[in-house]
Formats: sequence, structure tokens, C-alpha cells
Amino acid sequence: MIAAHMVLRAPDDFHLHVRQGADLKACLPSSTAWCARALVMPNTLPPVSTPSRVRAYREEIRKAAPDFQPLMSFKIMPSMTGDEVSALKDAGCVAGKLYPAGATTNAQDGVSSIDQIQDLLSAMEEWGLVLCVHGEQPEDPILTREISYIPVIEKIAVHYPRLRIVFEHLSTKEAVQAVAAMPSTVAATLTPHHMALTIDDVIGGNMNPYHFCKPVIKQPSDRDAVAAAAVSGNPRFFFGSDSAPHPKASKLSGNALPGIFCAPVAMSVVAEVFERLGALDKMEDFVSRFGAEFYTLPLNSGTVEMEKTPWQAPDEVNGFVPMLAGAGLRWRVIRRAG
Ligand SMILES: [Zn+2]
Repeated sequence: MIAAHMVLRAPDDFHLHVRQGADLKACLPSSTAWCARALVMPNTLPPVSTPSRVRAYREEIRKAAPDFQPLMSFKIMPSMTGDEVSALKDAGCVAGKLYPAGATTNAQDGVSSIDQIQDLLSAMEEWGLVLCVHGEQPEDPILTREISYIPVIEKIAVHYPRLRIVFEHLSTKEAVQAVAAMPSTVAATLTPHHMALTIDDVIGGNMNPYHFCKPVIKQPSDRDAVAAAAVSGNPRFFFGSDSAPHPKASKLSGNALPGIFCAPVAMSVVAEVFERLGALDKMEDFVSRFGAEFYTLPLNSGTVEMEKTPWQAPDEVNGFVPMLAGAGLRWRVIRRAG
């Protein structure tokens, strides 16, 4: 039977760009409408890489959204020591984010080789912090950067066997297959856009800068592999939206930054994918359970209610253009409670 209405445990988003200042206030409500808790990405300017910055950023988010729990991450800097990692954990961080130098927005100061951060990775393993990785080899061609990063993830998993690792926002069938074969300490986040769109939605017709992100959206076979992983019931594949809004003017500037504002349609897109694949009953585990369990966090107690009713994705939200702007969608979030 096709459900016309469903109530899910309130979701977690294990990969969210919350932004700062006015942009934060403009965009965060699109997430808190359905999301109780999110792992906040640290690639702000300046980066979230010190305990005082962690505290200040968390405070800014809490003030803007009192009914939302930010889970803090720190940006791994090449010079960071084990003592700094310990202080970041004390400040409340649950994860550190590894950006290969030059891989994406504000990653120029990232890590050029994991050999630079051996002590830091040992400290993270020791302190039980999760390592989140933007897994792309920046010097390689854009469409194969993720595939060429797979051996790096495998190497980290072997060298740090107790370190929990999240290979973020998988975009290729090769990475999906690799993670499935890796030890239980390695998991992956999957985004709405990588499970629903293909490169044709970005550059197949006129170029759509609002569907441009890193890692770039790829072939139908890659999309299908990501969607299949999402509905597989494997607890090491869980939801992380990677909603990464940039103002419309910046997206249209001729120098569009990577990042898709998927928060306004994220649950709708995920529900449509799960329904199409006959797996709506598995959606709650994907968005509300598997990630929390991997991060060893309690499950959320609230709920989110969704209804199957035709609606149109907004063309714009406070100066930001979302994923699938103006498109017809089938599932809609009605309310979040508790
Ligand atoms: Zn991201």
C-alpha cells in the first residue's frame, strides 16, 4: 500500500553548512523545519578550528534556532596537535573534518597529505572523535577525484583501526562499493542531490549553477548506486544533506561557488527516492537512526510528519535558490514536533 501520510522520528542531518550571520538566519529555518540535530560543517571564515570558535559558533546557532541541536565539528588544520584535539573535544566537538587542500569552498588551507596529520589522527582515535572526510583528490580530473581518493580512506582505516571514519557525500558507484567492503568503522553520508540528480541536471541543458556542487553530480549509474545504498538498510550508509547555500547573486556571478541548497526539499526528495524503490518503510532508519548510532548518540525523541500531496519547490528562499527550484514534488513536510 502506498502511504499518503507518515510520521518519522525527527531526522538528523550529518552534514550541514549552517553559514554565519544573516545567511545563517536566512537558511537555517529550511533545515529546522524538519531536522532536530545536525553535524555543523566547520569551513567558515575564519574556520571552526579552535575551542573558542567552536563555542562562539554553537552559541550563534543556538540563539538563531533554540529548538535545534548543533553537533559541532572542527576543521583539521595541518599544524594541529593532539593537545589541540583534546581541547576541541572538551569544547564539545564530536568530529573533525578533513579537507584535502583545495578540494572545495574555503579548503585552500586544508591538508595536502595524511602523513602531515598522523599524531592528530591517533589523538582522534584515542579520544573517540569521528573523522569526516571530503574524499576527493584535488589534483585529479573532476569526474574521477572521488574514485582516486578511495585508497586514502582505506589506508586511514587500516592504520587507525579504532577510528570511526565518514566518507562524506558519496557521488560514484565505485565509492559506494568500496565503502560497503570496508571495515565497520567506515561509514558514508549520502545526499538528496546525489541520489536523485545526474550531471544532466547540472549541464545537460543550460547550465544550472544551483545544482553545482563538490563532488559534482555524476552519471545515472552513480545516482542509482547512491540511491540503492540509501535504501539498502546497511547502517553504514546514512543521511547527510550537505545543504550548502550560496546567495543567488553569488551563484550568478560568473564564478559560482560549489554547493547546493537542498534543505528546503531534502525530505521530499528522499521520500520520493525511497518510495520509487519500494522502501519507504526504511526511510526512518536512514534519516533518523543509522547516523545517530554510528556517532553513538541517543536517538531524537521528536517527530516529523509528512504528507503525500503535490506541491511546488520554492523558486527562492530569502535570496537563496534551492535544489529543484520550481519543480513539482510529491511528498511534503507538514510539521515537526517535540
Ligand atoms: Zn559539505
